[in-house]
Amino acid sequence: MSLDERLEKYCLTIATSGREEPMIQLMKDDLGEFTKNITVDSFGNVMARFDAASPTEDTLMVFAHTDQLGMIVTKIEDSGFIRVVRLGGVPERVLPGSVVKIIAHGGDIVTGVMGTPPHHLTPEDMKYRVPTIDKAYIDVGASSAEDVHALGIAVGDHVAYEPRFERLAHNTVAGTSIDDRGGCAVLVGLAAHLAANPAAVNVVLVATVQEEFNLRGAMLAAEKIRPVAAFSLDLVAAGDTPEMGVPNGVALGKGPVMGLYSFHGRGTLNGVIPHPGLVTMVENSAAAASTPLQRHATMGLLTDASYVQFVNGGTPSLDLCWPTRYTHTGIEMCSLDDLKGLQALITQVVASFPANWDGTRG
Ligand SMILES: [Zn+2]
Repeated sequence: MSLDERLEKYCLTIATSGREEPMIQLMKDDLGEFTKNITVDSFGNVMARFDAASPTEDTLMVFAHTDQLGMIVTKIEDSGFIRVVRLGGVPERVLPGSVVKIIAHGGDIVTGVMGTPPHHLTPEDMKYRVPTIDKAYIDVGASSAEDVHALGIAVGDHVAYEPRFERLAHNTVAGTSIDDRGGCAVLVGLAAHLAANPAAVNVVLVATVQEEFNLRGAMLAAEKIRPVAAFSLDLVAAGDTPEMGVPNGVALGKGPVMGLYSFHGRGTLNGVIPHPGLVTMVENSAAAASTPLQRHATMGLLTDASYVQFVNGGTPSLDLCWPTRYTHTGIEMCSLDDLKGLQALITQVVASFPANWDGTRG
């Protein structure tokens, strides 16, 4: 299966943070084609191990997250409308009038529409205002709370964007949760390479959980694996759309991206300034793989690498990314060429990672 076929399959799979079972199953199967050494922990992290060409204690971790953001049902009104809170950074702006899927706890998927006032009757003062999440509601066509219960829906059930995958011009695709199913697709491509070409270090590929729920899963996996270094495969927000004015200089179609600085700066005061040794390694690998390499330094975002770097007394970590537009909406956009470039880059990084890397500073 090609990279884009895997990406399409993953984008069309619903797996919200904490309810990743469908993606856990897919990653077990897809990584399992290339190694029998697969374990899944109690949180749902899928860990696929590839032994080094010659025995060594050193292990490298490469990871991507399987979960996607969404919403959680908080209340079912007597009228049959369903209230929600956000699960992860869902932009309220894109919700009104969109189609969503409720994963009822009984297992059924129930389709709903995010309500919005009829355009013709919208009061002037509401027309240009984004309603906050506490004003949002889902309409499943029910006319009472009993109707909603009869559909199998209860408080605590998860809600996801309607999954989509579209192929556009110039090898560009738009899909649901390209964040981080793009990383999952690259991870499986790396597994295929490692099965035939063992590295100088042991490599554990991890399909992690609960990234969108404040970056929980990868940290647990890293504590268990105790890697000498870790690489995160996740998107970076592109700054090349008309309203952005290129804040971080990252553009679609210009190749994979190395994170040199990330800082969330709101709530989660974390980010990554990567180990200089890893930066050099990535630069050399991009040259060796003849892939273009963009660099990003961005305020306002972070990935699991921010937490992985602090486990086991310090784990040098670096973000490898691909540019993505319209992040955290239900239809994120990226270039397949950039994803293929990322595949080539991480493959080269792993292939050139030395058996006894010394990350000591100074
Ligand atoms: Zn992500």
